[in-house]
Amino acid sequence: MDPYQKLVERFKEVQLLRSTSAILEWDEQTYLPKKAVHYRADQLSYLASKAHLLSTASEVGDWLTACERAGYAEDSDEAPNVYHWRHDYDLATKLPVTFVEEFERTAALAREAWKEARQAANFAGFQPHLEKVIDLSKQKADLFGYKASPYDALMDQFEPGATVSYLKPIFAELKSALVDLVQAISSGTPDGEPLAGNYPIAEQQTFNRQIATALGYDFDGGRIDTTTHPFATSLGPNDQRITTRYDETLFQMSLYGIMHETGHGLYEQGLPKEAFGTPLGSAASLGIHESQSRLWENHVGRSASFWDRWHTDAVRCLPDLHRFDPGTVIRGVQQVRPSFIRVEADEVTYDLHILLRFEIEVGLIEGKIAVRDLPAIWNERFAALFGIKVPNDRVGVLQDIHWSLGALGYFPTYTLGNLNAAQLMNRASSDIAGLNDSLAGGEYRPLLDWLRNKIHRHGRRYLPNDLMARATGAPTQAKYRIEYLREKYGRS
Ligand code: ZN
Repeated sequence: MDPYQKLVERFKEVQLLRSTSAILEWDEQTYLPKKAVHYRADQLSYLASKAHLLSTASEVGDWLTACERAGYAEDSDEAPNVYHWRHDYDLATKLPVTFVEEFERTAALAREAWKEARQAANFAGFQPHLEKVIDLSKQKADLFGYKASPYDALMDQFEPGATVSYLKPIFAELKSALVDLVQAISSGTPDGEPLAGNYPIAEQQTFNRQIATALGYDFDGGRIDTTTHPFATSLGPNDQRITTRYDETLFQMSLYGIMHETGHGLYEQGLPKEAFGTPLGSAASLGIHESQSRLWENHVGRSASFWDRWHTDAVRCLPDLHRFDPGTVIRGVQQVRPSFIRVEADEVTYDLHILLRFEIEVGLIEGKIAVRDLPAIWNERFAALFGIKVPNDRVGVLQDIHWSLGALGYFPTYTLGNLNAAQLMNRASSDIAGLNDSLAGGEYRPLLDWLRNKIHRHGRRYLPNDLMARATGAPTQAKYRIEYLREKYGRS
């Protein structure tokens, strides 16, 4: 068997282990009884270490070298697979086992300390742990290696090819436009109706299912379950599941959660099934994945035409919604108001939360910000961006779990998702004749087919910025999102 075939077989085996872990994780989040948690952790760590050993074994390095020597045509299936296997192999083998263990131990303690500190709204309890996490993250960046900024090495784990020097000017352009827009909206717009009512879970489920089906989600290859933290997961080539949570007084939480996760699920359902378990059958990056969820949730779902089309069906499923006409519902779901918590932010202010975190993370990793100064820096910059004063660390610098996990470099992928979504929609509207009419009619197939063709079917064949350039004519930029938000929310 030639070395490439050996790699394919090896990584299909690794994928059997990883997708089995994914089922166990999905079960843990949805149905696992409380007493079963500890044994589940043993099962997961066993499978993770098996997968790690199989994918980092020395023969994998030998097969990769042999493939690289042989060389493959740039447009072959082999070339991108070998490229990503090599990339992942290097990342996984550059960190000594002792370092990985220390990182995991530190993060586990940091997570517990973070929970307590957040509860008590007291940053001091988390500070020494975060100092260790930052120190180890800097070491990690050094071990990975980088050209310009150590932060580039950390981002590369989540968004291949992303760099501080590429993102900085784009994010600066976005920031100044958003600050102006938020200020204009906050000063001139009355609050939207919160749309509170009596919406039993079973009624919400019926409507959500109708919408997910309309968007193109295949229930023969997926299902919806309930969790505290909604997510989408791929458990096999024909098993892409999504989850949501419910509030019986506010239908929007589950509906927009479902539209978001359906976007992730549609991407996974559109990846080449025959390549499952290899890079060509995997999503391009987190920033591309998030573009799919934000596109369906916000560009499609939070639009006036969506509610003009679906209001009657929604009232049929959720009778209490009859008290709000389509115009009121639209104003309600398009409500913009500066708030403290990122995960509850509206579509306009959301990226400001990310830009704040990006600047702070880069400062921490480049050694320009000290951990002990974080609360003061956070509160000062937050007030400048949002025009409101942070009352305590719980709703300020301590609100997210990411830093306690050591997941530095992750946050920017959320904003990349938003930028990519706007850029893709802009291009889709010029590529697809009558797109607005089909969306207004609740006909989503043309848009989904376009995304399948431009994004989904390629898997990881191209790096994120190349994929965007091929789909839209240019790598990720800020201007399409700025134009979109100004048009939708600008009051001139
Ligand atoms: Zn998402």
